[in-house]
Amino acid sequence: MNNDFLKDFISFVVEKGFIWGPEPEIYGGMAGFYTYGPLGKLLKNKVENSVRSIFKSNDIWELEGPTILPDIVWKASGHLDTFYDPIIECSKCKAKFRADHLLEEKGVEGITNNKEILKLMKQKKIKCPNCKGDFKHEIKDESLMMKTKVSGEDASLRPETATVTYLPYKRNYMFFRKKLPFGVFQIGKAYRNEISPRQHVIRGREFTQAEAQIIIDPKEKDNWPEYNKIKNLKLPMWDYKSQKKKKDPSLISLDSLIKSKLIKTKAYAWCLWLAYQQFISMGIPKSNIRIRQHNLDEKAFYADDAWDIEIKLRSFGWTEVCGVHDRTDYDLSKHGEHSKENLEATREDGSKFTPHILEIAFGTDRPVFSLLDTFYEKKEKKDGKTMFKLPYHLTPIDLMIFPLVKKNNLIKIAKEIKNDLDKNFVCVYDDVASVGKRYFRAAEVGTPYCITIDFDSIKNKDVTIRDRDTEKQIRVKIKDLKEIINKLLDNEVKFEKAGKIVR
Ligand SMILES: [Zn+2]
Repeated sequence: MNNDFLKDFISFVVEKGFIWGPEPEIYGGMAGFYTYGPLGKLLKNKVENSVRSIFKSNDIWELEGPTILPDIVWKASGHLDTFYDPIIECSKCKAKFRADHLLEEKGVEGITNNKEILKLMKQKKIKCPNCKGDFKHEIKDESLMMKTKVSGEDASLRPETATVTYLPYKRNYMFFRKKLPFGVFQIGKAYRNEISPRQHVIRGREFTQAEAQIIIDPKEKDNWPEYNKIKNLKLPMWDYKSQKKKKDPSLISLDSLIKSKLIKTKAYAWCLWLAYQQFISMGIPKSNIRIRQHNLDEKAFYADDAWDIEIKLRSFGWTEVCGVHDRTDYDLSKHGEHSKENLEATREDGSKFTPHILEIAFGTDRPVFSLLDTFYEKKEKKDGKTMFKLPYHLTPIDLMIFPLVKKNNLIKIAKEIKNDLDKNFVCVYDDVASVGKRYFRAAEVGTPYCITIDFDSIKNKDVTIRDRDTEKQIRVKIKDLKEIINKLLDNEVKFEKAGKIVR
C-alpha cells in the first residue's frame, strides 16, 4: 500500500465529491459502506453505461433480479456451505483479521487450509497489526453471507448477481427461442460480510457488480464464430508458470493460447477478450492491465478455467478487477437438483443436456476507483494545479459554461446556452471568481471543455471553447455548439479543426 499517495488521493476523492465514507460518517462510520457523491455518481453512471453498451453490442442482454432470496437458493448454490473466510482473533485487543490476508502481506499466497495457515502464521511470527499482541491459536470460518428474515423465513442478501441470473433460466430459454448460446448480465448491488474490509471501495461490504453469463452447449465451446474475428489479437497473459518464475506477463495471441492449450476453449477465449475490452473502453492504459491465471488452490469451488484481469493501481498495486470463469454445468445442475425443475436444453437432434456457463464477473466500484487512481494528477509545484485527466467520454461533467464577467447581458446568454445544451450533456454554470480560477476548477474534476461567453459573443453570436489538456481555444458559432461538442466528445473531429483557433 502506498500511503503517501493514498492520503492525498483520498482527500481529493472526498473533497471533490466523488466518494464519501465509510458511512455513516457522522456516527463514526462502519467499514465497507460508501456514498458516491454528486461527481462520483455521474462517473459511476458513465462507467455502467460503458459496460452496458459493450455487452449489448455483443448481444448480451440486461436483466434485473432481486437482491434478497430465501436460503434454499444459497444452499443450492453452495454459498451457505462453502462461502467462508478464515478469521483469526487477537487475544489481546480482540480485533479480527482474515488469516490468509495476513499471510499474503508476508508474501505467502494461495494457502486455503486452516491448519496450514495457522502453522505458517506461527513460523512467520505474525502479530496483531493493531496492538502487536499474539493471535489466538484458532482460525474460525466466518460466513460471508448477510442474513435476514422474510416473513420469518431465513433469507440472505445476494453475495453475487450470478446466481440470481441463473434462477430464471427457463424463462430465458423461452425468451431466446430455445436457442443456445445466449448471454445475459446484471448490474446491481451485492453484499458480503467481510470481516475487516480495508482498501476503500475496492473491498466493500455492499458493492455493485456487473456480471455477464453466457449459457452454452458444452459441445459448442469450440464452435464460436466470433472467435475468428479476434483470434489474432494479443492479450497480456500472466500464466501460473510465469508467476512462479517471477517473469513478466507476455503478449500472446488468442490463437496461440488455444493452440498451446493454456486456454481450453474458443468461447472462453472470447469471454476473456470481451472482459479485457471493458477496461480498454474505459481508457485504462494497456500497460496497466494484465491477465493472471489462478493457481489450483484459489480456484472457486465451481470454476474450471479461471483467469483474473488485474489493474496496476498507485494506491494498492496490482488489483483484481475481473474474473472470467468456466463454471461448467455446476450452477444449473445444482439448481435443477434442489428445485426439482428440469433446467436442461434440447439439441436439434433431440438429445438433452444441462447447459454450461461462462462468466465474466466484475463490478463497477473497482473500475471507478481505478479511473480515479489512474488519472488523478497532483502537481508538486508550488503554484501547482491538481488535474483529473480522465478520458473525455467518461468525465462526470461534460461542459462548464462561464460568462467572462458577471454582467447581466453575458449571464443571460450563458444561461440560455446552458439550458439548450443541458438536454444533451452534463453542464455546469459557473460565474464565481476569475476565468482562470474557473478553468482550474474544471480541470480538477476532469471537465474536458469550458465554454466562455464574452462581449464579442453579443454581436458575433459566437463563443470560445477551451480544451482541458492542450489549453487551446477555438471560436465557434453558438448555433453550431451542440453539433461540435457532440463530435468532439465522440472523437469524430480534432479540436483544432472544429473551429477557428484563437489561442
Ligand atoms: Zn491486537
